[in-house]
Amino acid sequence: MLAYVPAVLSLLILAAHALRFGEMGQVAAWLAVAGLLLVRQAWARRAVQGVLVAGFFFWLDVAADIARLRLAMGAPWVRMALIMGAVALVCAAAAWALEGKKARERAGDGPGWPGALAFFLCLGLVLVARAKSPVQVLLADRFWPGWGWLEALALASYAGWLAHGLLNPARSARWRLRAWGLFSLVFFGQLGLGLLGADSLLMTGRLHLPVPALIVAGPLFRGHGLFMLVLFASTVALVGPAWCSWLCYVGAWDGWAASGRRPSGPLPRWRWPLRLGLLGLAAASALGLRAMGVAALPAVWLAAGFGLAGVGVMLFISRRLGVMAHCSAWCPIGPLSNLLGRLNPFRVRMTPDCTQCGACSRACRYDALTPRDIAAGRPGLSCTLCGDCVGACQHAAMQYRFPGLSPAASRALFLALVAGMHAAFLGVARI
Ligand code: SF4
Ligand code: SF4
Repeated sequence: MLAYVPAVLSLLILAAHALRFGEMGQVAAWLAVAGLLLVRQAWARRAVQGVLVAGFFFWLDVAADIARLRLAMGAPWVRMALIMGAVALVCAAAAWALEGKKARERAGDGPGWPGALAFFLCLGLVLVARAKSPVQVLLADRFWPGWGWLEALALASYAGWLAHGLLNPARSARWRLRAWGLFSLVFFGQLGLGLLGADSLLMTGRLHLPVPALIVAGPLFRGHGLFMLVLFASTVALVGPAWCSWLCYVGAWDGWAASGRRPSGPLPRWRWPLRLGLLGLAAASALGLRAMGVAALPAVWLAAGFGLAGVGVMLFISRRLGVMAHCSAWCPIGPLSNLLGRLNPFRVRMTPDCTQCGACSRACRYDALTPRDIAAGRPGLSCTLCGDCVGACQHAAMQYRFPGLSPAASRALFLALVAGMHAAFLGVARI
């Protein structure tokens, strides 16, 4: 426990500094970081170390600010700089002390970096969104001003815990579906309560239709409003086509609809022309409606009709086939995600250890492991990197790949990125 004393002391000093400025939310967040020391998982120790290193730079920055001010006033500054430098060094030493053998043993085995990466990715995304958004993106800030710090830390801790849990291939498929469902539940739960009158649960109060096709069709019809498209493109840049297996609030429904039974076989081969045709139709309709000067309301009804038809596909086809027919054949964003996702270097591949037993095929809901794909030794184009097949293969023949990394490190990196983004979306995504 001695190794923890400098860390707790440093975090208490940081909390005291926040207390001087009356930032109670920040005080709670620093104390909560100390609470992470009680979590006996390797990522939590790494997360605390990272926070302490950030604390080191924070104190240096504070010291530089005060020194500049005192110099400008002609006041003495050297003693202050020495004291602040010592406080900063205690922070750095505290991070180093957590590297000791006892601290590592207590925190538990396993690589801590994937969970810690997810923790800091989520924390960074949420804090940037909080600082840059013209509206208060975090609910805690809306109800208790300043307490967004604590919410950001809670979301980041959830990201770390989730990434750590997903590393176990035996449970990753189950956890993915639950985490994805939780995101959709929170998103639509907030929307439902917002429409019932709880305005603070909405983002701006200016509603838009949560139909994925509008990611493309919306800006084409309006001629502006690229936010969702930019968000979608950023996720493609980081995690390829994983938007459609981790981050879309509608796709989660299709995942649940298909999960009730074993996939009953490949979808017809004409589904690719169909989904590309639907993508073209969505874009052409948006441009056509705009050219004809159609008002927003009829266009919204059209889009709502398309979205409802998609729910019908989930209920009547995905549920019956055990394959995500909505996401693999109907939604126009699916093919965009699959095709643009190829620009990202993450891949799932089979090794020569594959015995062609077909277990992976029974786990794949995206129709990406047909007998032809298995014979070809790699998933088809509709693969969304969900990873369900990785845990299903008893021969460890399904692997994530990333240039320059081992399969295990590639998978850990992917899960860290996707868990960090998922947790950040959970906190900031609302209509
Ligand atoms: S295919 Fe469409 S609905 Fe399905 S996950 Fe992708 S964007 Fe969402
Ligand atoms: S091939 Fe594997 S990773 Fe790709 S969608 Fe199917 S189950 Fe998911």
